[in-house]
Amino acid sequence: MSETVLKFLVSELRIVRIICQNNKCAAVVETTVDDLDRYFRGWCCPLCKEPFRHDDLGNNFLTELQNALRGLKKIQDKVQVEFVLPVKNDK
Ligand SMILES: [Zn+2]
Repeated sequence: MSETVLKFLVSELRIVRIICQNNKCAAVVETTVDDLDRYFRGWCCPLCKEPFRHDDLGNNFLTELQNALRGLKKIQDKVQVEFVLPVKNDK
């Protein structure tokens, strides 16, 4: 049985969508990878201000994500990271 998958390289990522999980907010912010830190500098949702932190870890994971994506793009001649997603077929 064959499976349909979607594959993309990290170096191909340009736009990211951040979805606030605060039920009263549920804001969706779409931005470029390069602008992630500008939108989320305060480590919180830009709309409801709910923090995007974990009490025990406390890191700004969106900045870490941005740094990782930028770094991997800069060394793409040495290594490529590819995500593989199964495509759901509702038929
Ligand atoms: Zn929010």
